Amino acid sequence: MRSQRWPSFFFGKVQRLCPNENGSRPFQGPPSVWWFMTNDSDAAELCEPFVVQGPLFTLLNDRSVGTYTYLDNGSMVVGDQGKILYVGPSVPAEYSHYQVKKTRHLIFPGFIDAHVHYPQLPVIASYGASLLEWLDKYTFPEEAKYSQRPYAEKRARQFLELMLKRGVTSAAVFSTIHEEAFDALLGAASYSGFNLVSGVTAMNRGAPDNVLVDVGLFKEVSAKAIESGRCVERFRYAITPRFAISCTEGMLEYCGRLLESNPSLLMQTHINETKEEVLATSNLFPHATDYLDVYDAFGLLSDRSLFAHGIYTTESEYERWAASGASVIHCPTSNTFLGSGLFDASGYISRDINVGMGSDVGGGVSLNPFVTMSEAYKVAKLGGRVLDPFQLVYWHTLGGAKAINQAGFIGSLEPGKWADFCLIDITSDDLGFEAWERSNSVQEKLFGLTFLSHDSMNKVVETYAGGISRWKDATCQGPE
Ligand SMILES: [Zn+2]
Repeated sequence: MRSQRWPSFFFGKVQRLCPNENGSRPFQGPPSVWWFMTNDSDAAELCEPFVVQGPLFTLLNDRSVGTYTYLDNGSMVVGDQGKILYVGPSVPAEYSHYQVKKTRHLIFPGFIDAHVHYPQLPVIASYGASLLEWLDKYTFPEEAKYSQRPYAEKRARQFLELMLKRGVTSAAVFSTIHEEAFDALLGAASYSGFNLVSGVTAMNRGAPDNVLVDVGLFKEVSAKAIESGRCVERFRYAITPRFAISCTEGMLEYCGRLLESNPSLLMQTHINETKEEVLATSNLFPHATDYLDVYDAFGLLSDRSLFAHGIYTTESEYERWAASGASVIHCPTSNTFLGSGLFDASGYISRDINVGMGSDVGGGVSLNPFVTMSEAYKVAKLGGRVLDPFQLVYWHTLGGAKAINQAGFIGSLEPGKWADFCLIDITSDDLGFEAWERSNSVQEKLFGLTFLSHDSMNKVVETYAGGISRWKDATCQGPE
């Protein structure tokens, strides 16, 4: 039982912390009661291995985008460590004594949001500005508040609750420059079993002083944050220079050194989001041949790098991008909301560059993966490409897993991976259910689901992370 691996006060929570040298915990959380964990009356029984039985869909890892498993009545066995032991049409004899949870809802892999800003949640849907104005007017004043730990904790808890509510079980998240903001998020993610990638934001110019940090202090705060996260299960640290124009050469140089000397770290940033930003970057870095060259010159282009947006990518950038193994994170609702531009899916697909998908809230206007996928479809269509629904799901699950170097652990429902999944109610509205029923193929079913799943706001009725139910719709009495 999981409760035997961790102290009793961690009961039912997927996390493990190791003490610092002085014996204290690396951060002070959790100071509050997270309702979405403690309110779960099933928490105790979910520490036992179980079988979830019902309609099941998953793409399969390391194969072509359209390779999947779909079962009208499948069985997934979840072991006591929160990992998947088996997926198939019937329960093997060795697991026949496990508790069975039957559901009529679709068992679906947990989504991966590969680019999102948790401190921007309160400024989502702010009116009428381009990217750089939007940052000055709405985002920076909000981010300044995260130096206050209680405020950061409240927002971190709210953010993760909303993610889980939408079936998102993993995310690469931007924080702020403040160690309080990072600690609050790490604590909340750890205690909710959320699979988190994050880091302290590096930015030392181009914004008000209260959201800037000098290189010296950044070194100090980063070192502490990396150490804090070192022993937290389901956490990976990402060096996070906000974007080139918010960092001096000295800051980018330090970030590059950090990435090079720590092979377990990731790097996340923005690139080629708007024309105005591309121009500002070329003015600040006149010796760089293009935007990607700025990051490349400081050692930030690697197969552990995630670049959000990539709209105005040049031929030479595509070439180096493909050779590096870095991922692009497509954030369609942000790009259309801010009027940044249209992502060229073909440019990345044809060069076999890995694509993940991000909500980019608060530039993006929804944390709902179905909204993000449907917007990606529309953006591609405007560019003359019809995206396969398998491709959209791939980007939001396995593509994201690959981007954060965790394709062996998450992104699909396969033995050995974390049992990160959600239950989707395909009958919650008449139109959606009709579309599901009339579809002749799994491809068509997924397509209808993508476009109609946000008609009733949210069809996810329950979300499991690490084999434990972390959020459940209070109005849904299922499984039944
Ligand atoms: Zn962003």
